[in-house]
Amino acid sequence: MTTTTRTVTLRIFRWSSGEAERSQAYRVTVGPDTTVLDALVDIQRGEDSTLAFRYACRVGMCGSCAMVVDGRERWACRTRLQSFGDRVDVRPLYHFPVLRDLAVDMTPFVERLRAVGAAMTPADDAPSYARMPADAPARREIDAAIECIGCGMCVSACTMVAHHPRFPGPAALNRALTLQLDARDGARDDRWAALLSDDALWRCHGQGNCTDVCPMGLAPTASIIRLRQLATRRLFGR
Ligand code: SF4
Repeated sequence: MTTTTRTVTLRIFRWSSGEAERSQAYRVTVGPDTTVLDALVDIQRGEDSTLAFRYACRVGMCGSCAMVVDGRERWACRTRLQSFGDRVDVRPLYHFPVLRDLAVDMTPFVERLRAVGAAMTPADDAPSYARMPADAPARREIDAAIECIGCGMCVSACTMVAHHPRFPGPAALNRALTLQLDARDGARDDRWAALLSDDALWRCHGQGNCTDVCPMGLAPTASIIRLRQLATRRLFGR
C-alpha cells in the first residue's frame, strides 16, 4: 500500500527579545495538501505554543502569512510542503524588523508608501463621483497593477531595498504608478518630485526579483519602467 504522507523537518528561525537567534527543528507529518501554514499551526497548537507567526485569512487573500520558505518569499497558506524535500527552512521576511520568530514589523512598508504619497488625493475640481470606463487606456494600465495586498514579499526580495534605506521599493512604486495614471488625483506633481529624487525611480536595477515573488502576479518591475517612461515624457513636455 502506498502512503501519501511523509515526515518533513521544518527548520524555523527563532528569535525573541533578549534571546540569541537560533534555528529550531520540528518534525511534521505532511499529506498531499499540507501547507506551511498548516504545519506551523500544528506545531504551535501541539508542540510549542511559543512559536510566533502571523496569519489571518488562510486562503491566499490577505498576504499576512508572507515569509521566506526554502530561500524564497512565499505565502505560507498557499505553499504545499509536498513540493519540497525532507528539510525545509522557514524564516521571516528580509528587510523588516523581526518582532518575534516569523512575525515582522510592517511599519517600514507603510513608511515607504507614505514616502511616495501613496494615498489618493482627489483634485480640487474632481467630481464627487467620477466613473472611469473599464476600457479606458489608463484604467486598463491601472487595473494591471491595482491588486496589491500589501504582503511585503516584493520588498523582502528586493536587493536595492537592502542597499538604499530611502528607496521606496517595488510595492510603493507600483502603487505610485496607479495614482500617476489617474487623472482624478490632484497630487501628481508633488508625487513626481518624490519619484524623481535621487533615491526613488532611478535606484531600481530592474532585476525583477519583486515580480518573481509577487503572489498576486503583479509586475512592479514593469510599473517602474512605465513610471520612467512617463517621467521622461513629462521632462520633454509630451
Ligand atoms: S506588489 Fe505583490 S509582492 Fe509586493 S506587496 Fe503587493 S502583492 Fe505583495
